[in-house]
Amino acid sequence: MSKQKPQRRPETRAVHDGLDFRDQTGAVVPPIYATSTFLNGNRGGFDYTRSGNPNFNNLEAVLAGLDEAEFATSFSSGVAAITAVVSSLKLGDLIIAEENIYGCTFRLFHQVFEKFGLRVLYLDLTQPSSLDKITFMQPEMVWLESPTNPLLKVIDIAAVAERTRQAGATLLVDNTFSSPLVQQPLTLGADLCLSSTTKYVNGHSDCLGGVVCTNDERWAQKMVFAQKALGLNPSPFDAWLITRGVKTLGARMERHAKNALQLARYLENKPGTRRVRYPFLPSHPQYQLARRQMRSGSGILTVDLGLSLKETRKFLQRLQLFAFAESLGGVESLVCHPASMTHASVPKEVRERVGVTDGLVRFSVGIEHVDDLIEDIENAMEGVKHEKSACIPSLARS
Ligand SMILES: *Cc1c(COP(=O)(O)O)cnc(C)c1O
Repeated sequence: MSKQKPQRRPETRAVHDGLDFRDQTGAVVPPIYATSTFLNGNRGGFDYTRSGNPNFNNLEAVLAGLDEAEFATSFSSGVAAITAVVSSLKLGDLIIAEENIYGCTFRLFHQVFEKFGLRVLYLDLTQPSSLDKITFMQPEMVWLESPTNPLLKVIDIAAVAERTRQAGATLLVDNTFSSPLVQQPLTLGADLCLSSTTKYVNGHSDCLGGVVCTNDERWAQKMVFAQKALGLNPSPFDAWLITRGVKTLGARMERHAKNALQLARYLENKPGTRRVRYPFLPSHPQYQLARRQMRSGSGILTVDLGLSLKETRKFLQRLQLFAFAESLGGVESLVCHPASMTHASVPKEVRERVGVTDGLVRFSVGIEHVDDLIEDIENAMEGVKHEKSACIPSLARS
């Protein structure tokens, strides 16, 4: 109707949504409701923090808005959000999952839920034959990430959504690597959008969180049930921190993407580099699709520096601005080494076949000045080269 408020843009909503419960003090920022329980019959309808707290409501309001969702449920971590969704399935249900999914999701499927009779089939969802399998196998759920970790494969969410809908299944997209400011899976046809808010949404590497957004009321009820029945709720303080962090998501994602694209171009032109993967580089295999479904390339890029395992380790140790650590999506740049960290348990031949080579490194590009980041990489590479020539004089470059 004409009286309706104009739909504000995501950057604005990130700042202005989720501000209820400011109480009578005039506080511009809502306080932290550090309480386990609530007086019976209160106006907010709260009873016990495991099943709801004003700080969860504020966080859920802003996150639902950013994903164009009617409902959002907050959890204590991304893994807790995954647990909430998977625990809603039943014995014998089949999930078709993208084969390049996050390691902890794979571990949870394999080491926990398969014990209870969950079946999971892993497929490369960039292949048309995999989409045919969705039609043929009639799974209960299809599970994907895009871009994937660490190879940044981009999956056509709208195409998978169409097939999933025809099969009467539920499509879940783990949107952690993009954030809602880069990609909105629900608008592309996904039923559930899950994020580890630990990463870009909070953006400051100072707490864990997760969220599931949906327009399907039945799924929303299942998520609320899982939050309280399984004890997957966040703490009020963490919910408050993420509500604070998300305010700058618009500005941060712009800067992450700008820095990452510049760094990707620099690395691609650097002699000796084997392969740079970044969704918004024209050399990316799904470049056109990425341009269609993402607003930017986000802040993660992977590169094979063409170094041996030993040299790669030296390179990582010599970086000063890129902290050598797991995780991603914070304001500070991080670097990780998939072959020895996230994929260490995968046999070397299998790793190499899927592209996780010894020389592969993954950068989570922060919001620092990009010239400092480039200098940091240059200096670390110089160090590796010098040692190389010192040890093997016959190979020293003139
Ligand atoms: C980190 C991550 C998770 C898990 O989130 P936590 O908050 O660490 O539990 C899930 N999916 C993806 C893609 C992630 O990067």
